[in-house]
Amino acid sequence: MSSSGYDPACLPDLLPLYYRRLFPFSQYHRWLNYGGVQKNYFHNREFSFTLKDDIYVRYQSFTTQSELEKEIQKMNPYKIDIGAIYSHRPNQHNTVKSGGFQALEKELVFDIDMTDYDDVRSCCSAAAICSKCWTLMTVAILILDRALREDFGFQHLLWVYSGRRGVHCWVCDEAARKLSVAARSAVAEYLSLVKGGDETVKKVVLTHPLHPLIEEALAVVEKYFPQYALQDQEILSRKESVDKVLAMVPEDVRKELQQDFQNEKKPDSRWKLIKDQASKKQGTAKKGQYFEKEIMLQYCYPRLDVNVSKGVNHLLKSPFSVHPKTGRISVPMDLKELETFDPFDVPTISLICEELDRPRTGEEESEDVKENEKDSAERRKIRDYKRTSLAKYVKYFDQFLDGMARSWKGELLKKSDLEKEF
Ligand SMILES: [Zn+2]
Repeated sequence: MSSSGYDPACLPDLLPLYYRRLFPFSQYHRWLNYGGVQKNYFHNREFSFTLKDDIYVRYQSFTTQSELEKEIQKMNPYKIDIGAIYSHRPNQHNTVKSGGFQALEKELVFDIDMTDYDDVRSCCSAAAICSKCWTLMTVAILILDRALREDFGFQHLLWVYSGRRGVHCWVCDEAARKLSVAARSAVAEYLSLVKGGDETVKKVVLTHPLHPLIEEALAVVEKYFPQYALQDQEILSRKESVDKVLAMVPEDVRKELQQDFQNEKKPDSRWKLIKDQASKKQGTAKKGQYFEKEIMLQYCYPRLDVNVSKGVNHLLKSPFSVHPKTGRISVPMDLKELETFDPFDVPTISLICEELDRPRTGEEESEDVKENEKDSAERRKIRDYKRTSLAKYVKYFDQFLDGMARSWKGELLKKSDLEKEF
């Protein structure tokens, strides 16, 4: 088997090793404890585990990092999901009077899944992805990250590769965690532009004047559209996709373009003909004047699973959980390296477990001697993940947590000042 080769049948053998020696429990707890600013925040958080044979265990909760660690090491879940922070401990929800047990807070989350783009990618379909269509995720992240930071003022955004065919965003700011269901829906609706199902020909309809969100999104899309849509997906080369594009332009323009396309086969030149028609239209018509922009957005604008964002009690796959089908770890993504992020480079559980078994270098050995005196289980764990391809993702997660810690410090100071006053 190749070093990254993953066989799902091996998962039961690999998970105990992963949870015992590699899963970054201390960072994980540091994240979900949010600096201990709010009491019982970690205690009242729901975790859910998917065990072998799709056995699904909801409402797990833990009071300490070590309790979480021990339980995960005992259960060896195939998949871990994170839910809301409830009014009571989720594992005691049966003892709470009906109606009393309620989801109170959760990160604002976004789920972008490549399967929602099947009508605009020809390279793959369903669960399959390739480097061509991965561009859609890059575009989605750039557009949403900007909007969440600049239009809403959020700062602590954790982008995570889902392990298979999409990405998740965890907005961890306190203000985001406290949003009501109605406010979450409003944010998700604000960010949604592509509407309608398979039958809808035009899924994006723009009106004058363009909203700043759309202007900003177009600035991103314009950069990627020629390579992604014209070259990689060949939307103006293949007959059936040309027809699909032409169905999105106003009728009078369509006839002219159909004529012009007879003599012009190059996708770039065809796109230029469309743009020329659009700028002519912009001088005269009120309706359909933005059709070339609508085409670009329909092909490239992020498609959100709005229901995931709306619900406070909706579960989402946890960072550092394994994707049981691909074996890839759900790793946090450093947006500074977004352009070069390759989902096929993300380590699989088999790779990192194998890396643990490799002989150690002299440097590592001498480090071992140095640390021998103060050795503890915790220390060994730190060294273990550092010896694998998981290291750079945990390091980035650490940086993300440091950024949040600076804001917790602010909160804790404010709190202690208030306590002094009273
Ligand atoms: Zn593809």
